[in-house]
Amino acid sequence: MSPIRQNLQAITATIVASAQESGRQPDAVRLLAVSKTFGPEAVQEAVAAGQRAFGENYLQEGLDKIRALNDAGAPALEWHFIGPIQSNKTRPIAENFAWVHTVEREKIAARLSEQRPAGLPPLQICLQVNISGEASKSGVAPEQVAALAHKVAALPNLTLRGLMAIPEPAVEFEQQRAAFARLRALYEQLRADGLALDTLSMGMSADMRAAIFEGATMVRVGSAIFGARNYNKA
Ligand SMILES: *Cc1c(COP(=O)(O)O)cnc(C)c1O
Repeated sequence: MSPIRQNLQAITATIVASAQESGRQPDAVRLLAVSKTFGPEAVQEAVAAGQRAFGENYLQEGLDKIRALNDAGAPALEWHFIGPIQSNKTRPIAENFAWVHTVEREKIAARLSEQRPAGLPPLQICLQVNISGEASKSGVAPEQVAALAHKVAALPNLTLRGLMAIPEPAVEFEQQRAAFARLRALYEQLRADGLALDTLSMGMSADMRAAIFEGATMVRVGSAIFGARNYNKA
C-alpha cells in the first residue's frame, strides 16, 4: 500500500476515534489534505485513496497543481485556499478555489465576492482569527470578528461558513484545547447572533485530536499525510 494511502487511513481512524471519544458523530469532522510543497503525483495518490478536498497555501503552486490534476483527468476535486492573501491576487483565488479559509479583512472579502465568476457557486469562506494574540500571526482580532462576520455574510457571491485559526504551537493536550475552546466560543457567539455557520476549521497534524475535542468540523492535515515538507523544493 502507498504510504499516502496508509497515512490517510490512519488519520481517518484517528478522526473517528477522537470524535467518538468526545461524544461526537464519527462523520462530524471532514479531512482537508494540505498538499502544499508536494507535487501533483502526491495529490494523485491521495485521490486514488479516495481523498477529494485539498488545501493549498501558495497561489501559483496551487494553480499549477489544479491545472495538472485537471489535465490528468482527475475526478472533481474541492480546492481550499489556506494561505495569506495579497489583495492584488484575489481574482485567481475567486476563479479557481471552492473555499478560502484565510479572510481577515473586509476589503479582501469584497474583492473575492466581486471577482467570483457568475457560473460558479458562491465561494465558501472562513474568517481567520488570531486566537493566540501573537503580534506576528495573521488573522482578525477576536474582538473584531463579529463586525467582520456580519459584513462578509452580506456579500452576494460568498457564503460565510465559519472560523479558522492556527493557534500558537503547544505540546500539552490541555493547552492545545484551551486555544481551540476560545475559537469555538467565538463561533458559538456568532451562531447565537443569528449567523448560519457550520464550520470550525481547526487542528493540524500535531493538534488535531485536541481540535476535534473542542468541536472542529474540518481538520487541515499536511505532514501526517504527505510526510515532512521540503520548502526548498517547492
Ligand atoms: C501547512 C498548513 C497546515 C498543515 O500543517 P501540518 O502540520 O503539516 O499538518 C494546515 N493549515 C495551514 C493554514 C497550513 O499552512
